This record gives sequence, C-alpha cells and structure tokens, in this order.
Amino acid sequence: MNYLSQIAFVLVLAIAGYFLAKRIKEIRGNILLGKDVDRSDRKSERMKSMLLVAFGQKKMFKKMIPAFLHLLIYVGFLVINLEVLEFIIDGLVGTHRIFAGPLGDAYTVALNIFEFLAIAVIFSCVVFLIRRNILKVDRFSGIEMKSWPKLDANLILVIEIILMFAILTMNATDQILQTRPDANYTQTGTMVFSATLIPMFDGLSTTGLIITERIAWWFHIIGIFAFAIYVTYSKHLHIFMAFPNTYYANLNLKGEMNNMDEVTNEVKAMLGVGGASTEPPAEISRFGAKDATDLNWVNLMNSYACTECGRCTQQCPANMTGKKLSPRKIMMDTRDRIDEIGKTGGDDGKSLLGDYITKEEINACTSCNACVEACPVNIDPLSIILQLRRYVVMEESSAPQSWNSMFSNIETNFAPWKFPPTDRFKWANDLKTEEKE
Ligand code: SF4
Ligand code: SF4
Repeated sequence: MNYLSQIAFVLVLAIAGYFLAKRIKEIRGNILLGKDVDRSDRKSERMKSMLLVAFGQKKMFKKMIPAFLHLLIYVGFLVINLEVLEFIIDGLVGTHRIFAGPLGDAYTVALNIFEFLAIAVIFSCVVFLIRRNILKVDRFSGIEMKSWPKLDANLILVIEIILMFAILTMNATDQILQTRPDANYTQTGTMVFSATLIPMFDGLSTTGLIITERIAWWFHIIGIFAFAIYVTYSKHLHIFMAFPNTYYANLNLKGEMNNMDEVTNEVKAMLGVGGASTEPPAEISRFGAKDATDLNWVNLMNSYACTECGRCTQQCPANMTGKKLSPRKIMMDTRDRIDEIGKTGGDDGKSLLGDYITKEEINACTSCNACVEACPVNIDPLSIILQLRRYVVMEESSAPQSWNSMFSNIETNFAPWKFPPTDRFKWANDLKTEEKE
C-alpha cells in the first residue's frame, strides 16, 4: 500500500515537473525573442538593488498597510515552502514527518511558526479580497482589469486560503491521531493554531481521521504543484521574476534617454564630430518598435514581472487627467503579445502597436518617469512607450502636427520655439533698455 502511494507521488511530481519545465522554457524563449541589450555592467550595484527591492521589498513600504500584509504573505510563502521539502521527502521515501525525530523540540517550534504564518496568510488574503471586491480600491480597476486579470487576482487569494486551511486540517487530525495508540502516528508536540480545530474532528474514528489527514496532505501538496504551474500563467509570476527583473533594471538616471547608436554615428560623421565609427553603417531593420519582438529582452522580461498592482497607473499624470494611457496596460499588452508571438510565430498580421496599444495611448505620455519610480519591482513602461513612439515618428512620420512643428523648429532654430536663434535674447535686451530708461 505504501509503495502505491510512493508511486503515485513520483507520478504527480513527474507530471508537475514536466509542465513546469515546459512553461519555464516557453517564457524564457519568449523573453529571448527580444533584441539584445547589455546589462552585464555594475554587478555589485545590481546585486544591491535586487536585494533591497526584490528581497527586501523596499519600494513596497511607501504604502504601509498593503506593504505589511504583502510582507506576511511573502514571508509565509518563503517559510512554508520549507515545510514542502518535508512533504516531498515523505512522499518519495514513504515516511511520515521525517524531520520530527532528528529536530526534536525545534520541530515543534518550527511547526508552530509555520502555523502562525498560515494564519497570517489567511488574514492578509481575506483583507486583500475585501479591498479588491468590497471596498473596490481604485488602483484595482481600469479598462485592463476586466475578465481574466480580475479573476486571476481573486483566484490566487482564494487558492492560498484553501491551501493554508489544508495544512491546518492536516495538523489538527494528525494531533488527534497522535493520541490514538492504534494509529501509531509520530509525536510532534502541540501545534497551537491547528489545535483549535480539533473539536471539529474529534468524533471521527481512527480510520476516518487517517483518511481526512491523508486527503489534506495530498490536497496540500498537489495544490502546491498546481499552484506552481498556474503561477507561470498568472500575474503572480512576479514572485520569481522580481529577482532577475530588479537585477537587470536600467540603472541610469531617470530621464536619460538612449539614442540609437547607428543614428548617433551618422550624425557625428555628417557634422565631422570626433568619435564617429569609420565602419560602413549597418543595415537598420527598423527604427523603434512596432511589435513586441522589436523591443529588447529586458522590456519583455519586465512584462512577465508585472504584478498588475496599478501603482504606475495611479501615479501617471496622463491617466490622472483622463487620458487613455495606463502604463500597467502597456506592460500587460506587451506580455499578451509576446505570449501570442511565442505560440503563433507572429505571422498573424498583428502587431503590438495598433492591435494592442494605440497611438492615442503612447502620444499621451509626458515621459515624466512617475510610473518607473512607482513600480515596486523596477519595471520601465516608459522604455516601451518611447520605442513605439520612435517607430511612429521615424518610420511612419505620423506624429501629431504639433510635434512635427516642434521637430522642424528644433532642426532650424535649435529650440522647440519658432524664433530664430539670433532673436533668442531679445527679451533680455528689452529688459536692459527698460532699466536704463
Ligand atoms: S512616463 Fe508616461 S506613462 Fe509613465 S507616468 Fe509619466 S506620463 Fe504616465
Ligand atoms: S508596471 Fe510595476 S507598478 Fe505598474 S502594474 Fe506592473 S508591477 Fe505594478
């Protein structure tokens, strides 16, 4: 019988491992469809940023209540996963609570800490469900937060609550079984929180208790495997992606825009400025980005790291003033499009610009970087917007008329205004004249 359960466990583990590995390969392949960008510099600065922002949750603490609740779930997730290690060893070897003997009293302490965190996770998830669905916090609404994104956010909270209840049920029935000599269950000491559930199960026979305990055990471990696969299709992928995302984030000063090297070189060569490469110019396949594959791999990784929290959209001045732009939507559209390209190869006549993101949206951006500053995992929606705009301006020449006037003013007057450069200080001359008089 024991062998049967071990074989079943190996099968479940193998199936979960297969689907997880397949999906990880898919996401990695999609990210690598992006153009190359070098982020191998400033390694210690990158490591520090990752430790502070992803591991230390530094940017979350701008809003104390959600930050605290999120921290409970985060710590609970990290610590309770240690317990999963015991589940896996027990499942493979056919033992029950393999760490109880070697750890002794420390095992009881660890179990109580796990249970405390399970309660904390349940509490935080319930509060988050209330904030999303009853209090209807503004940040969780918007045109992009309909259907799947809304369902996904709720589903994950409900799944976490159910998984935590499974642990508590398992521990409660286990504690009763420890008092039944015919069950011969390993002694663990008192588990304070699950002990409160004991009256619910006390009347069951030993067989009934063993069945309930085993169902809860299997439910929890299959639930964890299913959760791990589900996460790769969900916004909760940020649990993992936040780490590489913060490591490879743009460390340059906000507002510093990157030029296209090929264009810079051409201009330098034309003006006779030093530093221009003498190599013949490389063929430029496209100025800016029309589709997701024209973006770089960091942009694409950003899209998989987006938690859809809406902090960027909440801070976006264009969004605040009723414009159609939402930086969160830019990230979600980019992820949807690269996922689609990964499946179809991209030969579907569609593109990120036009089919997902409109010119109206990107033209509304003020390039203020408020979204970049607000993002808790250092995502840069502005980088994508600028590349899409570069395509509209340089390839389609279809910028708004007011922008075209500004461009030609810069070209002829070296300033965005209509006045010739010789007249630039006229206003000051007039001032001096007034002073003399
Ligand atoms: S940079 Fe653009 S998208 Fe980001 S907050 Fe500013 S206006 Fe909004
Ligand atoms: S880009 Fe950042 S701030 Fe905006 S929704 Fe995604 S994770 Fe939140």
